[in-house]
Amino acid sequence: PAKPIQIKVVLLGEAAVGKSSLVLRFVNDDFVENKEPTIGAAFMTQKVRLDDSVLKLDIWDTAGQERFHSLAPMYYRNAQAALVVYDITRASSLDRAKSWIKELERQANPNIVVALVGNKLDLASPATDTPAEEEGEEGEASSANEEANNDEEEGKSRQVPTEVARSYAESMNLLFLETSAKTGEGVVEVFTEITKKIDLS
Ligand code: GDP
Ligand code: MG
Repeated sequence: PAKPIQIKVVLLGEAAVGKSSLVLRFVNDDFVENKEPTIGAAFMTQKVRLDDSVLKLDIWDTAGQERFHSLAPMYYRNAQAALVVYDITRASSLDRAKSWIKELERQANPNIVVALVGNKLDLASPATDTPAEEEGEEGEASSANEEANNDEEEGKSRQVPTEVARSYAESMNLLFLETSAKTGEGVVEVFTEITKKIDLS
């Protein structure tokens, strides 16, 4: 078998949108509530099969905080793909994503494949928005515990309509997907879709 082709992928986006959680879900198929913030950047690799070749993704997961902004070019320089992540429950995070996309246009490799990724899709699903669940009228201990664990997420709901983000992404010629690192929805797809668009020649 041929040597794996190495691909550099970078994740960018506001703090707490779920960048590290997306990588953890993709690489380890795992999720951690209240994940600690990334300091500087984190590195992981994952092999993916594409047609007859094996690709080794070198994934650079950056910190979202502004104080680490000056480090970002080190991570997106020479990257073949970027996931620019926002949180569908926080409209400001889409504005931040747009400014990352502009920065990539100016400063990254002109062939870079960029995906706009709307994460935390689970918080927009009907299952988490049903009044019955919130009222907890059954009063079972198990559902009470579940609610206690979900305190952080209480009151969070979609602020960014899918179509708003999608039409922006189309106008900028970007891939667009909504994901949930929590349930895994869309996560493998987003990494697969970017690898399909990378020019390997
Ligand atoms: P990062 O700063 O962008 O790397 O974000 P993290 O991966 O550290 O996640 C920030 C917080 O959001 C943590 O408490 C995660 O558990 C939570 N989180 C991440 N992804 C999701 C998701 O898809 N759904 C929900 N409900 N929470 C998520
Ligand atoms: Mg992080």
